Amino acid sequence: MKLMKTIRAIHTGGTISMSQNEKGEVVPNDENPIAEEQVILKGQINLITDEMFNLPSPHVTPEVMLKIKQRIMKAIDDGVDGVVITHGTDTLEETAYFLDLTLPNTIPVVVTGAMRSSNEIGSDGLYNFRNAILVAATDESYGKGVVVVMNDEIHTARYVTKTHTTNVATFRTPTFGPIGIVTQNKAKYFQELIQTEVCDINQVVEGVYLIKAYAGMDGTLFDAINNDNTKGLVLEGLGAGNVPPQTLPAIQRLLDNHIPIVLVSRCYNGVAQDIYDYEGGGIQLMKMGTILCQGLNGQKARIKLLVGLSDNMSGDELREFMGNAIS
Ligand code: ASP
Repeated sequence: MKLMKTIRAIHTGGTISMSQNEKGEVVPNDENPIAEEQVILKGQINLITDEMFNLPSPHVTPEVMLKIKQRIMKAIDDGVDGVVITHGTDTLEETAYFLDLTLPNTIPVVVTGAMRSSNEIGSDGLYNFRNAILVAATDESYGKGVVVVMNDEIHTARYVTKTHTTNVATFRTPTFGPIGIVTQNKAKYFQELIQTEVCDINQVVEGVYLIKAYAGMDGTLFDAINNDNTKGLVLEGLGAGNVPPQTLPAIQRLLDNHIPIVLVSRCYNGVAQDIYDYEGGGIQLMKMGTILCQGLNGQKARIKLLVGLSDNMSGDELREFMGNAIS
């Protein structure tokens, strides 16, 4: 670690900047309670504080993500050594992956949050924030893409997901595991991220949807979005990537309307694959023209599709971009 690295902390809101009131409700604050962060790592890190937003993360939109990306680009231009983003945990994985897809992989960018607000017993906010700063200031963090640091683990933004509503060990990478840990105030890496893709977008399209398949599903939801405002759809298929046969005519109508459909699995673990050749099976969906996306969950595949479409991709280019998650 070089002496006195400069880290920019961009705060965007979430439980990490909230506290519990007398009634036990967790509410946003006018003043960020981790503003006292200058006391942590004092004399080791030159920390620049940037109170950008104070949003609960269900209020975060792709437009907000784009603004955060632009703020980080400015920080890179200013010559900072690393960036930490604090964010609500509900949509943290989506913002982190959006940033991973749209930022050049030049400096460490670390996203963190908290499951317990600032004045609750066992609050994890300041601890996660301190660890995120340490990771951002670690030389080995270069070239890892955007990472998520929570509960002593370092995860890639690409594969991490929130798995528990309240537990502090909520962020997991189901199929591949974390790439590193934070221990004794040091970041240690055990895996490399393969291949990074960067789309330097300056706008975000609307009309990109996510639909989950279920037993007995019919075409109602697909027909409901079959209009000119729809730019793309991610379909969380059953198992390896299959759908009930009653959905097929409506899926075909979307494809006939030139709306790209990306197929992922609704399973928590594993990757989508075209294994089954029965009515509604993955092989049939591929023959119809859906795009198989391996390794990403539904919400991340939606972010990737949104980024690709915002970069004006279509046809084979979009197909290759979406099909490229783990290969
Ligand atoms: N509901 C909160 C949010 O996402 C949860 C959190 O930050 O942990 O803003």
